[in-house]
Amino acid sequence: MKIIGDYHTHTIYSHGKGTIEDNVKAAIEKGLKEIVISDHGPGHVFYGVNYKKLQKMRKEIDELNKKYKDKIKIYLGVEANIISVDGDIDVTEKEMKLIDKLLVGFHNGALPKSFRDFNELYIKNKLSKLNHKLKEECRKTNTQAMINAINKYKIDIITHPGAKVDIDTRELAKAASKKGTALEINASHRFLTLEYVKIAMEEGVMFSIDSDAHKPEDVGRFDWALNVAKEANLPPSRVINAQHD
Ligand SMILES: [Zn+2]
Ligand SMILES: [Zn+2]
Repeated sequence: MKIIGDYHTHTIYSHGKGTIEDNVKAAIEKGLKEIVISDHGPGHVFYGVNYKKLQKMRKEIDELNKKYKDKIKIYLGVEANIISVDGDIDVTEKEMKLIDKLLVGFHNGALPKSFRDFNELYIKNKLSKLNHKLKEECRKTNTQAMINAINKYKIDIITHPGAKVDIDTRELAKAASKKGTALEINASHRFLTLEYVKIAMEEGVMFSIDSDAHKPEDVGRFDWALNVAKEANLPPSRVINAQHD
């Protein structure tokens, strides 16, 4: 399987090491035809990108698209955070207008919408590591929050499902499949796992194979994810950023 674009990369706008152009150059060197710059959503307390930063990134990407127009297509994305059980994310309508691709994931460090959400999505998930009954409850809440987000927004990719909090892969895949949202096989976090990919495949969902690079040299580094895809017998036709011929 040949991957033609890396749809999940970070830059200095959040906590990556390279500039947008550094990532673009690295992608070109790896022979990629597309790249998505997807820094963390504004709700992330330490390194979220706010409206002003997104505006700057939009401008920079528009210029780079002119400069590299024969080589690569650059998209502005954001890796939004789930901030409530109801599936709210930390990207506003206004911010949504600036971006080309919406990625959504669970992250620690994102500001929850209310105290109830803080309790349900953060405290309980932490405590569930020690309590089996709570683990089951959290799995349900986490899954429902993500499904609510899928039904509420037009999400392109759910990033690293299962990496930060426990999720029911089958239920997630069912909802994502209906809405045309891809589930990510993330080479950095190593989620979806092989087991989860096999479950998700049965529900007809699409996948995205990404590096989640935090430095330019990792852009296009898909090895682990490609290996999982191979082991799962995942055909390129089921991968949004694979070459389809
Ligand atoms: Zn992430
Ligand atoms: Zn990321």
